[in-house]
Amino acid sequence: MTDPHPFIAGLPKAELHVHHVGSASPRIVAELAARHPDSKVPTDPEALADYFTFTDFAHFVEVYLSVVDLVRTPEDVRLLTFEVARDMARQNIRYAELTVTPYSSTRRGIPEAGFMEAIEDARRVAEAELGVVLRWCFDIPGEAGLQAAEETVRLAVDHRPEGLVSFGLGGPEIGVERPQFKPYFDRAIDAGLHSVPHAGETTGPQTVWDALTALRAERIGHGTSSVKDPRLLEHLAEHRIALEVCPTSNIATRAVTDIELHPIREMVAAGVLVTVNSDDPPMFGTDLNNEYAVAARLLELDERGIADLAKNAVEASFLDPAGKRKLAEEIDTYTTNWLRAPGR
Ligand SMILES: [Zn+2]
Repeated sequence: MTDPHPFIAGLPKAELHVHHVGSASPRIVAELAARHPDSKVPTDPEALADYFTFTDFAHFVEVYLSVVDLVRTPEDVRLLTFEVARDMARQNIRYAELTVTPYSSTRRGIPEAGFMEAIEDARRVAEAELGVVLRWCFDIPGEAGLQAAEETVRLAVDHRPEGLVSFGLGGPEIGVERPQFKPYFDRAIDAGLHSVPHAGETTGPQTVWDALTALRAERIGHGTSSVKDPRLLEHLAEHRIALEVCPTSNIATRAVTDIELHPIREMVAAGVLVTVNSDDPPMFGTDLNNEYAVAARLLELDERGIADLAKNAVEASFLDPAGKRKLAEEIDTYTTNWLRAPGR
């Protein structure tokens, strides 16, 4: 196919790996910065576009933290969450499991109950007004250690907001061994949450094995290095454990050096359930539609192939069976209508 963008733009999609604060687009950051004029973040959209042009990964972390610093009150949390859903609606994202790091907010003094009310309020309004269904993954910021793990699982279990479906682990992997988080994942799983840690993004396949055995992962965030271990690929394929692949993010963080060498082809060839996601989209200069276009090019997919990729995300999601059926049918109907359209 020539240009996949128009097809992808209208395709109903689900996103499984996308971070809350990391989804703050320049438009949202400008709104937050206007609420807090004492911050160093520019409020003018043009100056912000420059601000969002990263020179290197350290600069990305600096900008990310300055955005974290703009989220100071429950009202900021509500605004960020709803506006992220608005950006999703514009891309025809119909369902998203948004990775939220409540520890970063409560540690900075946002009251726990106020935080939970803010995300839940934004979730209900987003569903009613925008038709975007949001669910939460509460994740441990790995760099903050076991105290953050304890606090994250406590927040998840004590408050248990209605939209919460899963428990994750993010941040750096080097020096942050997965097995040490086992007791916290055990508690989250006992409370009925699904396990979705990041693993194998910047370290080898053993980290993915650790996530599977110690943390009982049901999906793997990234899992990029899985392709270095054929037995691991076989295991992932056999057990339908999905990988949440984020191609542009992998280039931005240098987990993969060249997009042409992205291991998504080997993953698909091995029969692994591959989903495509955007991670921290505005910060990596991308969005989910663009990630689908990148994947379509790398995998040489036509419309049906792209639709299958979208259905992989539905299958790997934590939607209930009826919700999965409905979204998969929407994808099929859209694709059939597109292929039948006159003048194609
Ligand atoms: Zn991530």
